[in-house]
Amino acid sequence: MRTDQYQGHDYYLMDELLTEEHKLVRDAARAWVKKEVSPIIEKTWEDGIFPRHLIPGLASVGAFGPYIPEEYGGAGLDQISYGLLMQELERCDSGLRSTASVQSSLVMYPIYKYGNEEQRKKYLPKLASGECIGCFGLTEPDHGSNPGGMVSNFKDMGDHYLLNGAKMWISNAPFAQVAVVWAKDEGGRIHGLIVERGMEGFSTPTMHGKWSLRASDTGELVFDNVKVPKANLLPNKSGLGAPLGCLDSARYGIAWGAIGAALDCYDSALRYSMERQQFGRPIGSFQLQQKKLAEMITEITKAQLLTLRLGQLRNEGRATSAQISMAKRNNVNMALDIAREARQIHGAMGITNEYPIMRHMCNLESVITYEGTHDIHLLITGMDVTGESAFK
Ligand SMILES: Cc1cc2nc3c(=O)[nH]c(=O)nc-3n(C[C@H](O)[C@H](O)[C@H](O)COP(=O)(O)OP(=O)(O)OC[C@H]3O[C@@H](n4cnc5c(N)ncnc54)[C@H](O)[C@@H]3O)c2cc1C
Repeated sequence: MRTDQYQGHDYYLMDELLTEEHKLVRDAARAWVKKEVSPIIEKTWEDGIFPRHLIPGLASVGAFGPYIPEEYGGAGLDQISYGLLMQELERCDSGLRSTASVQSSLVMYPIYKYGNEEQRKKYLPKLASGECIGCFGLTEPDHGSNPGGMVSNFKDMGDHYLLNGAKMWISNAPFAQVAVVWAKDEGGRIHGLIVERGMEGFSTPTMHGKWSLRASDTGELVFDNVKVPKANLLPNKSGLGAPLGCLDSARYGIAWGAIGAALDCYDSALRYSMERQQFGRPIGSFQLQQKKLAEMITEITKAQLLTLRLGQLRNEGRATSAQISMAKRNNVNMALDIAREARQIHGAMGITNEYPIMRHMCNLESVITYEGTHDIHLLITGMDVTGESAFK
């Protein structure tokens, strides 16, 4: 079992820009991860199963609904604390962060923002405590980057809705008790519905064969004439903007999370470069290895500053979707580049599970695709600066 020797890296003294609360939240999450998750993560990843016994611990560090108000069971924290939590979880594993992101931003957020008071009181406290786990069904077999083309639909049957369709690539689906599902009404308008496990005609087959995000469970959602109570429709927002609003919140968390994965790769590479001797010297004393390390910490530092500023804007309610796209795209790509460089610094050892590098690298291949691909986020920036949409 590998000892987690990770130390944070703060080249531009960013801690001075954080509050005591931010640092407490981050340090508590880091301590929990080191004690409870790091010792089992490699085995868990190899087994390809999300470690469900960690759910109470995730709840205890505030990872479920960090910014949801305390009256609904959330932690009532700001956006920077939320980001730092995601950073610490993904520093360990992107799958761990994904489970928390889905629960917070894709399940609790829509219920809080688009739900009514009854729905908030019924679902949010149980989701915050981890008693109930949720998933978010937007992607369909034939509609990934273009979710507006979805074919899942529901009909008004008078006293209930009848839901049909299928979703795929859904994180947490195999064990979630509730699903926030996006489907079109008879007029073709998109709405969110809360579908509960046990409803007749609703199944969640597990998807197998992933070489990425193996510590997160992924599945399909299949709706075969599912009777959904009318009380389960999210009443306060409809249209494609509703799921996209949730994605803004999750993508913001990913931007922080990716910094965590990059920091872990850099941390491991820096330590290895000072320990590993070749030609009678630590490999970290060679210029070529120093170039890699210097470029890594430069890119991490730029991402940290970009993302902290984004967090400030989100705290003020001023961050735009396009700004979030830029941070998600930049940071995930940065983390993937760093994982590849770190792998080389570790030489052959870099391909083993003695070090976290290959696991991060494989995970980040999902992170660069989900919640808007690398290409789509670039096109969002392009549209934002030119006013012209290149993707539809
Ligand atoms: C591990 C994992 C977990 C996931 N979890 C969830 C979840 O919980 N809930 C959920 O709803 N979804 C989830 N997803 C799905 C994810 O959001 C989609 O995979 C993603 O949106 C991309 O869709 P796609 O895979 O169908 O790719 P496609 O949309 O088919 O894209 C294929 C390629 O074409 C490019 N492309 C597409 N359109 C354009 C265009 N207009 N211009 C230029 N290039 C274009 C893309 O950039 C990409 O490179 C998950 C995915 C993974 C891998």
